[in-house]
Amino acid sequence: MIERLDHIREVEARVRAACDACGRSTESVEILPISKRQPLAFIREASELGYSRFGENYVQEGSAKAQELPHLDFVLTGPLQRNKAKQALQSFQEIVSLDRPELATRLRQVAEDLGLVRKVWIQVDLWGEATKQGGCAEEDLQALLDSLGDDPRLPLQGFMAIPPPDQTEAFSAVARLRQEWQDRLGLPLRISMGMSADLEEAIAAGSDQVRIGTAFFGSRAALH
Ligand SMILES: *Cc1c(COP(=O)(O)O)cnc(C)c1O
Repeated sequence: MIERLDHIREVEARVRAACDACGRSTESVEILPISKRQPLAFIREASELGYSRFGENYVQEGSAKAQELPHLDFVLTGPLQRNKAKQALQSFQEIVSLDRPELATRLRQVAEDLGLVRKVWIQVDLWGEATKQGGCAEEDLQALLDSLGDDPRLPLQGFMAIPPPDQTEAFSAVARLRQEWQDRLGLPLRISMGMSADLEEAIAAGSDQVRIGTAFFGSRAALH
């Protein structure tokens, strides 16, 4: 417990220092703890420190946790199959990994059937082959936005990205994309980028949300 608390305090200190270094307010950056493959007890501890939103990468695992901890909000940050759309909308308050038109169409349909409103973020991939984590290519973005069609049940929050490691210019490419589409859509858009290893660079480039797993909770359980 003490050690994990230290981890969390250290993440907060890093975010504060990164914000100070570029003249941003600490409140302008959300720390989203990524609790995939971390036990419920760790999430409970973090919630006692005031964290109420957690990112999960797997629909099954995140849904189970959401059921156990109904007073907390869970956000889906990992890939979503169309046949899991219903479960995802029921269990998660936000979907951060929307990345293709068919999925947008399916989510709209299910959100309407269930009478739910869920915030969505579009995961973008500006690097083609460099990352294999999913994401919408820049040239396909318009088609995806058309499929989303300003649906009030799925309000668009912004863009999420997982740039290739050690590519410092990657973060500014996402910031440029945000600016461009913000102007085009006349809508404020946020960007979610930066993880344990590179939150400083992401904040310097304008990230509004850093998604922190290992630096926050410690190393994850192995995949079985
Ligand atoms: C696992 C994961 C993170 C957190 O990664 P760390 O390096 O452990 O901080 C952030 N975003 C996504 C989409 C992830 O899958």
